[in-house]
Amino acid sequence: MERTFISDLSKHVGESVIVMGFVSVRRDQGKMVFFDIRDFSGTVQAVVLTKSPALPAAKEVTVESAVKFGGMVNKRPDKNVVAGKQNGNIELSVDSLEIIGKSQTLPFELSAELNLDTHLDNLPLTLRSERSRDIFTLQASILDAYRTSLKQQNFTEFIAPSLVGGDAEGGAAAFKVEYFYDQSAFLATSPQFYKQIMVGPFERAFTIAKIFRAEKSATTRHLSEATCMDFEMGFIDSELEPMRVLEQAIRDTVSAVADKHADMFERFKTTIPLIPDSIPVLTLAEAHATLGVESEPDMAPEHERMICEWAKKEKSSDLVFITRFPTKKRAFYTYEDPSETPFSRGFDLLFRGLEINSGAQRMHDYDALVARMIERGLDPAKFSFYLQAFKYGMPPHGGSSTGLERMTARMLELPNVKEATSFPRDMTRIDSRLSEDPSFES
Ligand code: ATP
Ligand code: MG
Repeated sequence: MERTFISDLSKHVGESVIVMGFVSVRRDQGKMVFFDIRDFSGTVQAVVLTKSPALPAAKEVTVESAVKFGGMVNKRPDKNVVAGKQNGNIELSVDSLEIIGKSQTLPFELSAELNLDTHLDNLPLTLRSERSRDIFTLQASILDAYRTSLKQQNFTEFIAPSLVGGDAEGGAAAFKVEYFYDQSAFLATSPQFYKQIMVGPFERAFTIAKIFRAEKSATTRHLSEATCMDFEMGFIDSELEPMRVLEQAIRDTVSAVADKHADMFERFKTTIPLIPDSIPVLTLAEAHATLGVESEPDMAPEHERMICEWAKKEKSSDLVFITRFPTKKRAFYTYEDPSETPFSRGFDLLFRGLEINSGAQRMHDYDALVARMIERGLDPAKFSFYLQAFKYGMPPHGGSSTGLERMTARMLELPNVKEATSFPRDMTRIDSRLSEDPSFES
């Protein structure tokens, strides 16, 4: 007999079926045994009655074991119906039972609240919890919606390399790779150069890329390996066009996850993010003035939090753009219009207290870009590959980069970005905790 997926069981009332899945719960009640079985499509209650030939085997089933249950799909008696719950009006009456992969006794209940290190130390198990499955189901929907939105906005997806010859940002700490004859390579800190190059062939290009940052700090918002959703577009007048594309992508993403996952926002005791008709935009100076704090060349994390509280209260928005950062605080390729000196055309997007995106109009003139490199103490000869894009004609262009893990974390108001990363890497962890290795020094 073929396997029936759990979400299809209600179409098979009165029929015999085979269900395969994991045991979420086992409850022994008198001589009967109840199970909650889950597969990718949902959960169903299974009952092994006193007279079932499967009863002896049922007593051997441990939580999280992979099982194959055969039985009849029955309507539940009215008094046992759980309204509003998937399969709340049916149950599987089990007459055959096979343990396909037996689970050892769990070190803790999957529904238990764990400290983050215990959760991360046990990911092959803890990723099975409802909380983790929610987080990464939502993340998959974010990826899907972002892609769909950019495609609808006429962008072409490309794959950016992770091994690069130099450090794109010229600032962010890069991991060195010793392999290539005659020169060191690095793990990419950003797909920046490659998406700009792709403006040549496609005009509008996007990529979902791994970035690697060897920052020697441990925070709740930094990973050593992160995922960014980047785009770049040509023929723009200013940074306002990439801001609009980003705003549309964020709006589409929020609306897709709100449609699909309203129940998750409830489970995480948060709400669907608020986005008004247009996301508020403040210059850096306006942001500081609004907060009544002294003007600074950048946003301190505490001020990011405060300005988001202001945007929520005053503008009913969970998102706020900050623009007009001093050019010297931004990456070397950031465009500065002569009429706006010393401010750049860069922007940040803050979401519920945290920067989730940075973007800008970029420099497009070959000579000006070379001059800027020299001004910043960079050797243009080392950038000759990238510079070809500008040598052969580049329009004014710009784009932005959204951190997937930060966006996921803020969406569900998770306090640490690591919980929104399926297999996080940081200074102290590559799956296992490195502090357990006595040779590690931080
Ligand atoms: P921050 O100032 O918060 O350290 P950043 O300005 O260095 O971030 P960008 O270079 O602007 O980061 O990268 C674009 C986006 O990629 C960020 O807004 C963030 O969402 C994400 N991102 C960057 N670095 C990391 C990291 N180490 N861990 C997680 N996400 C990151
Ligand atoms: Mg940034």
